[in-house]
Amino acid sequence: MGGHFLSIGECMVELSQAEDGHLRKGFAGDTFNTAWYARACLPADWSVDYFTALGDDAMSDEMLNFMNAHDIGTSNIRRLRGKTPGLYMINLKDGERSFSYWRDSSAARQLAADGDKLRTAIEASNVLYFSGITLAILTHEDAETLLSELRRAKAIGKLVVFDPNLRPRLWSSFDAMHTMIGEGARASTLVMPSFDDEASHFGDDSISSTIRRYRLHGANMVVVKNGAEGATVGADAGETLVPAAKVAKVVDTTSAGDSFNGAFLAHYLEHDDPVAAARFAAKIAAKVIQEHGALVPREKLQATK
Ligand code: ADP
Repeated sequence: MGGHFLSIGECMVELSQAEDGHLRKGFAGDTFNTAWYARACLPADWSVDYFTALGDDAMSDEMLNFMNAHDIGTSNIRRLRGKTPGLYMINLKDGERSFSYWRDSSAARQLAADGDKLRTAIEASNVLYFSGITLAILTHEDAETLLSELRRAKAIGKLVVFDPNLRPRLWSSFDAMHTMIGEGARASTLVMPSFDDEASHFGDDSISSTIRRYRLHGANMVVVKNGAEGATVGADAGETLVPAAKVAKVVDTTSAGDSFNGAFLAHYLEHDDPVAAARFAAKIAAKVIQEHGALVPREKLQATK
């Protein structure tokens, strides 16, 4: 049947240390990672597009080329004069990873400043994906623009999917985060939170309370990821725990949640069975955490059925 999947957010330049000490350049960001895995898992009659804003520098060109080379559509991406993409660096010290970010004035902060362009892109899509990070990087006014377009999409029956991806440091205050994450859920059909984030920042004492909270905000379905414990699908039919796949050695958990989301959605869109989709997503996420980096190539995922 096929359709059009649109992911909305910020993709950054990623610098990480190669074994020889040199810096390696890549591209990543939560909503982009999910688009990557949706693309890897969806059949060819689905298009996967990324919606963001980039600058007019060489690095923005390179990022666009990277997306196109991997079959992720870029025709809706705005180019802003004099701007650049955000950047982050992964620091490795004694096996522990930490991150430094340069994203305060990235082009992506203005991704929703052109409301007409946003509306056109959303209207041309069947499935919309965004995250708490997407909302956090926007001005309040632009976040409202995005949310009102998403509410409209939800109201006419499109699938709108939200990963709260709570990052208190990106928000001006806890209250701002709390309010806007609630608004994100209200604009969505499906919410895909990570339990450890929800427990640490919103004080949820159980997965059921996370599911209940987001359903009260207006999401029809909630899929709560919980690391090695698996994921729980919460819908009208009740709650179903889908165990994680067994992993002998975890190499790098970057993108576990993002890949889970992309694989879940790809399966769900084709088969309309959320529990089977969670089983498939657990297998993909298990492969991803046994490889280095956020974006594991399609060939390495393909043996997963
Ligand atoms: P996030 O990256 O958003 O914090 P989680 O850590 O909850 O997300 O992981 C997302 C999914 O990745 C889980 O639901 C599970 O399927 C898989 N996963 C994560 N950690 C492990 C692990 N140690 N063993 C097996 N699967 C895992």
